[in-house]
Amino acid sequence: MNNRNWIERDLRVLWHPCTQMKDHEWLPLVPISRGEGVWLYDFEGNRYLDAISSWWVNLFGHGNPKINMALRDQLAKLEHVIFAGFTHEPIIELSERLTSLAPEGLTRCFYADNGSAAVEVALKMSFHYWQNQGKTRKNRFVTLSNSYHGETLGALSVGDVALYKKTYKPLLMDCITVPAPDCYLRDEGESCTEVAQRMFLHMKKVLEEHADTICAVIVEPLVQCAGGMRMYDPVYLRLLRDACDVYGIHLIADEIAVGFGRTGTLFACEQADVSPDFLCLSKGLTGGYLPLSVVMTHESVYQAFYDDYENLKAFLHSHSYTGNPLACRAALATLDIFDEENVLETNRQKAALLGSLLEPLLDHPHVAEVRQRGMIAAVEMVKDKRKKTPYPWQERRGLKVYQHALSQEMLLRPLGNVVYFMPPYVINEQQITDMVGVAARGIELATAK
Ligand code: PMP
Repeated sequence: MNNRNWIERDLRVLWHPCTQMKDHEWLPLVPISRGEGVWLYDFEGNRYLDAISSWWVNLFGHGNPKINMALRDQLAKLEHVIFAGFTHEPIIELSERLTSLAPEGLTRCFYADNGSAAVEVALKMSFHYWQNQGKTRKNRFVTLSNSYHGETLGALSVGDVALYKKTYKPLLMDCITVPAPDCYLRDEGESCTEVAQRMFLHMKKVLEEHADTICAVIVEPLVQCAGGMRMYDPVYLRLLRDACDVYGIHLIADEIAVGFGRTGTLFACEQADVSPDFLCLSKGLTGGYLPLSVVMTHESVYQAFYDDYENLKAFLHSHSYTGNPLACRAALATLDIFDEENVLETNRQKAALLGSLLEPLLDHPHVAEVRQRGMIAAVEMVKDKRKKTPYPWQERRGLKVYQHALSQEMLLRPLGNVVYFMPPYVINEQQITDMVGVAARGIELATAK
């Protein structure tokens, strides 16, 4: 079977995520037969460098030998078991390790099977905590503009990317949206720290005025990924943590995309030295192998649900595949790699190279910003550099970069006008150089007229 056969069969029976299916009348789907390291191979011998880690999940390459071996071993023992009333070795070990690695005080792990589900869990847990505490007026959430937390109705409610949210607005919870400390929107001469401090005043005002009705503030620490890899200074998280403490409000850190070393530290919150009340993890948790997510929280939250059955305080949320043993085993193998290989240090060198290679793009007449935090980097293409006027979305400039990249053995998937890189950590120096070269040429072509 060649690519074409697979494409025809696919288009007869499938409906792909985040896709206007009509595009596939002229934009070919890419059928993949196998993966190895940073490479994805189709059925005709073409290959693609996965510069976006297959939607930010893959950490140590496709077909990673260590994770493969751990999974084979687990398969021989136990594929799945109900996680209510029963338990298993991989999930206990994984939880012990996560609680020792996560920011201080996050001693309890509650599992689900994808990122959106973890966000739902955190929102419900926060609300329910306050109910159990007798704070029954607390029923609202605060979120930042341009944030993204997933696509299920609760997660969509606390997000703010219009493209995904607008249609469903009548179905969603009403949230308080506070302008983000996005450093791209800085005033002339202003530093990212100053932007964060200035923008925090909006947050402070909302928390001060509505403390008695707010359950939690939810943020993507340091990088608003789906919102175009917009970045902000860690000082914002510090100020937010302190204010949440003052006003008796939970802080939910959604590290689903930024966790596991993407921003340079194992968790992004570390860069602000804060510990959230709820930490949501998924994506890289299993090295990009299997769906799994976890919400980590404090003992005091756990205790607020711990009571005699008749008092009906238990957190009854459940998913059939909660804590799947195979997924937990992949997660353990992923953490082993962090332990055995000097991942964060090696990444620092790779990130430095990526940054220096991207620097010349700053001079491009249609590039308004090149930004980076750790192993995440982004280039903002604009129509007018001085005024930062975006290209109209209808022009689909990013798609042109995507198409160019594909023709050059590269998977780049710009978010609107933002070309970004979030490669697997096994990418080598030559591949980083190639990746930037392809992107630069793609940007050249996409902005040519
Ligand atoms: N939160 C963030 C910050 C994300 O980036 C994503 C996924 N892109 C999600 C939540 C949702 O995760 P999932 O796609 O696994 O539902």
